[in-house]
This record gives sequence, C-alpha cells and structure tokens, in this order.
Amino acid sequence: MPNVRLDTPVQYLKGVGPKLAQLLGKLGVQTIFDLIYFFPRDYEDRTKLKPIGDLRPAKLEVICGEIIRVNAQTTRNRFSVIKVELSDRTGSVQAVWFNQPYLTKLFRRGMKLIVSGKVEFSPFDGLQFVPRDFEIDTGANLKIVPRYPLTEGLYPKKVRAITEAALGCLPQIVDFLPVVIRQKLNLIDLLLAITNLHYPKKLTDLDPARRRLIFDEFFLFQLALGLEQQARSKKTGIAFNPDQLKLNKFIGSLPFVLTAAQQRVTAEILADMKQAKVMNRLVQGDVGSGKTIVAAMAAYVAVLAGYQVALMVPTEILAGQHFRQLTELFKPYQVKIGLLTGAINRQKKANKEKPAKVDIFVGTHALIQGQVEFERLGLVIIDEQHRFGVLQRATLVKKGLVPDVLVMTATPIPRSLALTLYGDLDRSIIDELPPGRTPIKTHYVPESKRADAYKFIRERLKAGNQVYIVCPLVEESEKIDLKAAMDEATRLQKEVFPEFKVGLLHGRLKNEQKDQVMRDFAAGQVQVLVSTTVIEVGIDVPNATIIIVEHTERFGLAQLHQLRGRIGRGAKESFCFLMGTTKTEEAKARIKALLDSNDGFQIAEVDFKLRGPGDYIGTRQSGLPMFRLADIITDEAILREAREAALTLIKEDLNCARNIWHSQREKIKGSVTSAALN
Ligand code: ADP
Ligand code: MG
Repeated sequence: MPNVRLDTPVQYLKGVGPKLAQLLGKLGVQTIFDLIYFFPRDYEDRTKLKPIGDLRPAKLEVICGEIIRVNAQTTRNRFSVIKVELSDRTGSVQAVWFNQPYLTKLFRRGMKLIVSGKVEFSPFDGLQFVPRDFEIDTGANLKIVPRYPLTEGLYPKKVRAITEAALGCLPQIVDFLPVVIRQKLNLIDLLLAITNLHYPKKLTDLDPARRRLIFDEFFLFQLALGLEQQARSKKTGIAFNPDQLKLNKFIGSLPFVLTAAQQRVTAEILADMKQAKVMNRLVQGDVGSGKTIVAAMAAYVAVLAGYQVALMVPTEILAGQHFRQLTELFKPYQVKIGLLTGAINRQKKANKEKPAKVDIFVGTHALIQGQVEFERLGLVIIDEQHRFGVLQRATLVKKGLVPDVLVMTATPIPRSLALTLYGDLDRSIIDELPPGRTPIKTHYVPESKRADAYKFIRERLKAGNQVYIVCPLVEESEKIDLKAAMDEATRLQKEVFPEFKVGLLHGRLKNEQKDQVMRDFAAGQVQVLVSTTVIEVGIDVPNATIIIVEHTERFGLAQLHQLRGRIGRGAKESFCFLMGTTKTEEAKARIKALLDSNDGFQIAEVDFKLRGPGDYIGTRQSGLPMFRLADIITDEAILREAREAALTLIKEDLNCARNIWHSQREKIKGSVTSAALN
C-alpha cells in the first residue's frame, strides 16, 4: 500500500471513514500500527465444520450448508424475520436472522453459506440456528477465522476486512529483537508471529506467536524500567535533614495516635529520605488504613527542608479533597498548599498561585502536563496509583531535580510480582487499620427487601448519618446508565427520602459542580449522595456510614471492595447493602466473598480465581500496567525471562538497549508513558 504508513490514522485506510475510525477509536485503535497489533480475542475454526445432522444446542458452532428455502416475514410492528433452511449431506436446520431485511436480497436458493452462531432449541420450531456471522462459501474460505473485539456498530466482517488491509503494511515493521535473544529464548520472528496471531493456518501456530508477542510487551516494559533505573542510579538524590522537633510537634498535634503500622512505614520513608540516594518506595495499605497522613508527614519533611512537594492523584474530586485536608492539617504550620487540576490548568488565569510560592502542590495528571515548572521539587507522592502508568512518574521526575518518589496504593500485589513489575521499588506495607473501627456489616438485599432497607436507612439518616448510593456506569452503555442514575436520584428525592437532601454526582458534571456536590456532602448539607462510580477511590467522609450498591453484578469485586471502603471510616457502625441479581453462580460467589471478608488481599484472591487474573489485572482498577496480550499472572514465566533479557542487554550493550527503546516505545504507549525517557 503506497502512502500508508504505520502511523497513518486508520481513517485513511481504504474502506474506513471518519465514522468507522471513531468506532475503532473506542477499541483503542488509532493508527495502522494499532490495527496490526489489534489481535483477535478468539478464533472460529472453519476447517472443522459441524455436520448439520449432529447439531445440538450449543453456544457456538460453524456449519456450511446450501440454502433450500428463504422465508422473509415482517411482523406487525415492523420487525423483520428471515428464516433460511440450510442443508448439507447430513441434515438440515433453520437459521433465523432478526431485523436485517436487506439479507433477503442477498440470499438465493442453491447458495452455499458458512454460518457461525448459536444453536438453540425451541419447542415450536425444533433446533434453530441463530447466526452471529456468515460468509458465502467460495471453497477457499474454509479456514481459521479471527474474531476481533467489537463495539456497537462494528461488525465482524468489517473488522476482519480492515485488519486484513492493514496487514498490507506489515513489511514496514522491523523485528527489533536482537537475534541472540531470539535464538537463546527460542522466540519466533516478529512478522511471522503477527501474521499467525491474526491468521493461524492451524491452531498450534498460536502458542509460539503469542509467546513472542507477550515477550515483546514485557521486554519493552522491563527495558523502560531498567533504563530509568540505570539513569537514576547515576544521580544522587536529596538528603533531607528534617527538623525532628518540628516533625514531632506536628505528629503530636494530630487528632489521633498513629497506628504501629503507620509509625513503622513513616520511619521507613524517613530513613530513605535522609539518605542521599533517590527514594523509590511503594506504600501498600488497604482502603482506610490511613495512607494520607503518612503522605502528609513525608511531605512535611520535604517542606521543612525547603523543598516543594507534588501530590498526584487520579481524579479531580480526590485532588480537591486532599487539598482541603492538607490545608486544614497544615494550617498552624505556614505550609502553603496549592491545587492544580485540568480545569484550573485550562483557565490559567484562575491559577494565580505561582508554583514557586507553593510548598505542596496537589493535582491530577495536569501536574505533569507541562504547565507547571517546579523550582525546587524534592518529593513526588503518587496516591492511589492505579490509573497512572508506572512510568508517568518519570515525566514528573524530569521536571525537578532528582526528587524522591513515594507511590501509595490500595491494590494488593503479591510480593514476587511487585518485585518483578516495579523493579527497584522498595515496599512498605500498612497492615493494620486504625483502632476503634467497627467492622462494616455487609448484607445482600433482594429486591423484595428494598423497602425495608430504605426504612432502616431513614432511621439512620434521622440520627445524622449519611448515605452513598452507587449506580454502575460503563462506557458501552454510558447514556442509559447516566439516565438511570439521574432518574434514581429524582425518585429517591421525591418518593423515598423527601425530608432529606439527595445529591447527584457523575462524570459528566463540570469539575466545579463535582466539587460543589462533594463539598456539600462532606459538610452534611446533602445527606444522600447518588453517584456513578466516580466516588470509588479515596473519598473520605467519616459521617457517611451506609453505602448501597445498585446492580452489584455489574461491578468488579476489587472495585466493590474499594467502594465499600468509603464507609466504616469512623467509630460509628457502618452498613453496606448490595442490591442486584444473584442469578449466576459467579454473582453468588462474589457476594459471598464480600459478606465473608473485609480484607482487600483475601478479596483480591477470590477475584483472581473467579474472573481469571487477566480480567482482574487488565482493568484500570488493578493499578498494574495494561498490556495488549500479556497477563502478568499466567505469563509470569515469560515476564521473568523478559526481565532478565532486558536487564542483561542494558548491562552488556546500553546503546543497543537505548536504541530499541527509542524505536519501539510507541508500542507500549497507554500502559507506559512514552515521554518518560529520551
Ligand atoms: P486510605 O489509606 O484509604 O487513603 P485515609 O488516609 O483516607 O485512608 O484514612 C482513612 C480515615 O482514617 C481518615 O478519616 C483518617 O483521618 C483516619 N485515620 C488515619 N489514621 C488514623 C489513626 N491512626 N487513627 C485514627 N484514625 C485515623
Ligand atoms: Mg487514600
């Protein structure tokens, strides 16, 4: 294909227009390169057709049959049904297409179709074939066919055609992996791996192809980490020398006594900060374990030594909350706190605060998007680090001198994995909750008991408590979900809690509006907060003691645990009510896990088992980098190989390592910020 390059936007590919490009964009595909690396999630083996006479109800079968009869009907409400009788030597079956009237024009008697789809049994019509995809048989298309991820409005045939077209640019891809590494680890050629993963000739082609591509993902990631570490190791960091008296005074003035775990972790951090080497520490602690105050102490140490601190959080709401908390906490100590979010960044006029005058800057990723120039950045704290690419921190690091880095997360990561994934990141664990917490009582509430739950909640509201009501919102059905949440808020205000104030928080609100709602809730002016999942991380309103989760089945288990962590933050008794269906075994098991345990590590383990690690790890919730194919749990062996290969290469041929990284870093964009290194 002339003029089409790997970085050409998909829109300019033949057969793709702006509309299709937009749909592909939803799947993370922007360029031709992305398309080439857009791999099937599954395959349909059309070399193994099911004889029609052998069909039994099944999720997926592929048949090839001749059209014997076509019968098109339109129901009274304009619903079209096309019934096609297909037959091969072994028997015949009826295939039914709903609402695709144009197919009548296409289907002719005597035509041979390859059809894949579901086989159902209907008491009236007997066995029925419900096609998901079909092709007119040319004799040449009996092969293994890729099934790509889809989105609404995007059809299998179209995606296949586009991807196949993009593969025309495959020769432009260069196998970057040194031959020595390939040979030593028995990895196949990159171009062959890509081709085979899209169009395997036989299913046994898949494993070596996958292994090569997974290796690449891990290798590049480890190369980036290794290079960063290598660059950092040559620099000396700041040796903070905190005024212990002032620090003690600050600790003594806290409204509570630090837990032993908080003290231990703080000591570990301080020990790092005092040294001239650059700190790189991961603080892990379950929701509610009190990470914020630990971060505040580290920040104070840096400020006392005359440095600035950047505190980076994933959402603007959280930035606002931290800003207010820190402002309150540091009021007596002349520590200046600044807030920088995307909104403020955009209307820079509002940002009269020069970073130079601010001691602790709280913000979202806006902090690293070029606007702020720190003058004496000494410490970077990344809170709730899931959602930040692991190397995004490096971008910020580049802005300052050589700041110490503290990463805080509630994500339970097994030790061995943390070592492999974060390389040199030291770990501290806050393995204790502050005392005086009454364990959260979690209940499953069937629909028939909803009214009782509301009655109970009304009593608690009267006693001055506050309530979160969480409604699910996912990208694919965003509009409907948003409407549902809005309707729910209206219904609750009008019909259920008319004597209280019901607020609504969702992602579509302007930031100022979000902040206002959150402030009203924190101040107790709003007692019932209906919210889409935006409250999931970090929000802290101790007076909120009840959370209702609607459609529990639509949330991930780890996410539910995070949500539940919004309550039970004070001494008051707290309640979590899970609503929704428990039809499937999985739904039942998930509810049971939440009823049985309040421990994030335990729940994560159940989650691994139920959903498979890929799902758990792959979500933005998990806090781990996202790979296209690789799964850090099931592919751990490849991860270790890749790590070793990358570190060896850095040690033996630094230039080669650098060159590979520069030529390939686009590949891991999304999971790791490519601007991290240059
Ligand atoms: P997370 O680890 O989830 O970020 P936070 O830092 O938000 O937890 O703390 C949760 C709540 O516990 C906050 O209201 C905080 O003030 C409180 N808290 C933190 N440490 C202690 C402590 N040692 N004793 C009592 N309460 C504490
Ligand atoms: Mg927190």
